[in-house]
Amino acid sequence: MEITIKNLTKVFPGNPKKNIPDTTAVDNFNLDIKDGELLGLLGPSGCGKSTTLYMIAGLKKPTEGEIWFGDEDVTNLPPEKRGIGLVFQNYALYPHMTIYDNVKFPLTNLRAKTTKKATGILYNRKIKALLTKDLEGIVGEILASEYSGKISKQAAARRLVFKYHIVTSMAKKIYGYGLHLLDEGAREAKVNEILKGFEEAEKATIAKLNAKGIKLNEAFEYLDEDGDTIEVVRRLTNDEIDELVQETSRLVQIQDYLTRKPSELSGGQQQRVAIARALVKKPRVLLLDEPLSNLDARLRLQTREEIRRIQKETGITTVFVTHDQEEAMSISDRIVVMKLGVKMQEDAPQNVYNDPHSLFVAKFLGTPPINVFNGEIKDGALYIGKEKIMTNPAFVQNKKVYVGIRPEGFLADEHTKEEDKVFSLKVKQIVTMGRDMSLVADHDKLLGDEIKIIVDSDIKATIGVMKFAIRPNKLFVFDGETEERIYLE
Ligand code: ATP
Repeated sequence: MEITIKNLTKVFPGNPKKNIPDTTAVDNFNLDIKDGELLGLLGPSGCGKSTTLYMIAGLKKPTEGEIWFGDEDVTNLPPEKRGIGLVFQNYALYPHMTIYDNVKFPLTNLRAKTTKKATGILYNRKIKALLTKDLEGIVGEILASEYSGKISKQAAARRLVFKYHIVTSMAKKIYGYGLHLLDEGAREAKVNEILKGFEEAEKATIAKLNAKGIKLNEAFEYLDEDGDTIEVVRRLTNDEIDELVQETSRLVQIQDYLTRKPSELSGGQQQRVAIARALVKKPRVLLLDEPLSNLDARLRLQTREEIRRIQKETGITTVFVTHDQEEAMSISDRIVVMKLGVKMQEDAPQNVYNDPHSLFVAKFLGTPPINVFNGEIKDGALYIGKEKIMTNPAFVQNKKVYVGIRPEGFLADEHTKEEDKVFSLKVKQIVTMGRDMSLVADHDKLLGDEIKIIVDSDIKATIGVMKFAIRPNKLFVFDGETEERIYLE
């Protein structure tokens, strides 16, 4: 589902009596999110990313602007009519309910539009397919569910559901045939008898429907006199609910925990349950508000991969809000960086890193962060302190600038020409980390505490003053006043 955001603005009114001014949380925001895309909304605390997400969800009303899902204007629709799944940072599961019931919850009382079908025939046909395809396997699963000397119906049903992806009632029905109690010959005879019963029931149903003027198509949907399918709005049946819960649980891989309570799961597993709960209604759009921030570092990484996999598997259009640039970079197809309610830049993660349009974006992305220096453009050249770093035709006007150099932008090896080594830094610390070496350095014109440099570990580094050449594509110049990028030629 494509999402289009047009001139979206949200102003929270202040209180003049208490001298509290209005807050413009989102300011004339425009964005197109493609069908099936995972879009990361990234920015520091208070930049308006959650407010934007809540307006897409319908939880907050825009002051101005429009939100479209495909060709439907949803700006004034309540959340429940938008077809969205929401996951918050505190996953807020119902503690007294099992995982199964937590996932099922959004489906209770859900009314859905569907075609009228001969569900009994479809149900029997599925059982028939299973019995014909893998009778031995089915019996094996039932026998394997043996627990404390008895075969429990519950345990056997769970195994069948798990292995054959069928609904619980179907598994219980198959168990009820007692096939595991018979020897091979008797088992086959019993199956034939069951299948014969199905055939007769099918014929009887079709005859009854035909008598009422109803025909069935190949998918066993009811057709009216004109040959059109008949649509009804109704509650889901227990079997349909069960199927959705099972299917979604398999997707997020919580199918083993369905009988447990939330307190019996890890944080990452609980968050997966929350994602299942958001997905079970098959929403058009999935909205995630900092879903990983309550997890510890290891789980955060794992759950991040999980979300990416689930999103790719379902192809559901997803908006992911985070203040963590690394998280946004690794998970998103595209990133939107926000500052004070305004969109600063949107692009593929690597492009935002390689080509920041402003000092803010350059500083916000990258670990270790970009090194920023006070610089000056003078007579067509860029200076940091007294050192002339480079000349460029873009340096037409003398002015103060900021110079950003990525940690990997410094060159000091012996293959680098001596005359290119134009930038002197005071190296304070050298740390070798396998393939790379990290240098910590200082400079009078540095903004911030220390310079972080990453170089190959085979260069000769020394504590004290070292001279570096700069990779031109890792150096960015920004206007000293507007902080906008000055593009080099
Ligand atoms: P965080 O990462 O801290 O959640 P955020 O980027 O999601 O931040 P928002 O929650 O969207 O930011 O808030 C944007 C701005 O709107 C902030 O300045 C915030 O203080 C303000 N704001 C949010 N909700 C309200 C409200 N109900 N009333 C007044 N101001 C609000």
